Amino acid sequence: VIEIRALHKAYGPLDVLRGVDLTACQGEVVSLIGSSGSGKSTLLRCANLLEDSQAGEILFCQEPVTWRGSGHARRPADAAQITRIRTNLSMVFQSFNLWSHLTILQNVMEAPVQVLKRDPAEVEAKARDYLAKVGIADKADAWPAQLSGGQQQRAAIARALAMEPKALLFDEPTSALDPELEQEVVKVIKALAEEGRTMVIVTHDMKLAADVSDHVIFLHQGKIEEEGPPADLFGSPKSERLRGFLAATA
Ligand code: ATP
Ligand code: MG
Repeated sequence: VIEIRALHKAYGPLDVLRGVDLTACQGEVVSLIGSSGSGKSTLLRCANLLEDSQAGEILFCQEPVTWRGSGHARRPADAAQITRIRTNLSMVFQSFNLWSHLTILQNVMEAPVQVLKRDPAEVEAKARDYLAKVGIADKADAWPAQLSGGQQQRAAIARALAMEPKALLFDEPTSALDPELEQEVVKVIKALAEEGRTMVIVTHDMKLAADVSDHVIFLHQGKIEEEGPPADLFGSPKSERLRGFLAATA
């Protein structure tokens, strides 16, 4: 579904991604781990075309992103393609980003109705199903501020699902939450993994990464330091840096 090859991304003089590869096939869960500043969020944002990049390829369902320009002027060329890719790679952020002036149900319905121009009655029925799936059907008419952090994040996941994306991108979905609220969200993510959803998850929660991932990537200063199945990465890490990172997060 997502294929990234040798991606380079710089902010001015700062090389943030220095040749990163990532593949998430249909039904696969890939986790990205690494210390703060290693480039995890940037990689997700590049995958979603929220950021440009300076070299490398991004393919979405085998469709290569068409670039215009080169080096620092390199931009995705085709607005229709950007919309297609963004709506098919729904992102869930650390800070939920719900619209505070819309109810939970309206938050979930907004993009399918406004962006995808779907029939509101059908969207509403599905939105209620997604809210039930994440366990907050009873909060449909509440305002975001009336929900706990864990409930808000589950609403954000329902909103991402409502786009019926080909893959979900999570950027530290549980790190703004208290431990007990975190577990509510972890449960939802695990259920999505079991359903066979394609997901890329940036997380500091090594237990979550170990439990749900097919593949784990450890980024260090914009490069892949080590990657592999979770049993290998967490069970017998080869790189000194990964061993140090895991010891520090344990
Ligand atoms: P964290 O675990 O703290 O979220 P991260 O691995 O997600 O870290 P990124 O947010 O991808 O790291 O940032 C990688 C590097 O890029 C950092 O050094 C950061 O300061 C820099 N950076 C990120 N966004 C920008 C920006 N818009 N302009 C300039 N530099 C940026
Ligand atoms: Mg980040």
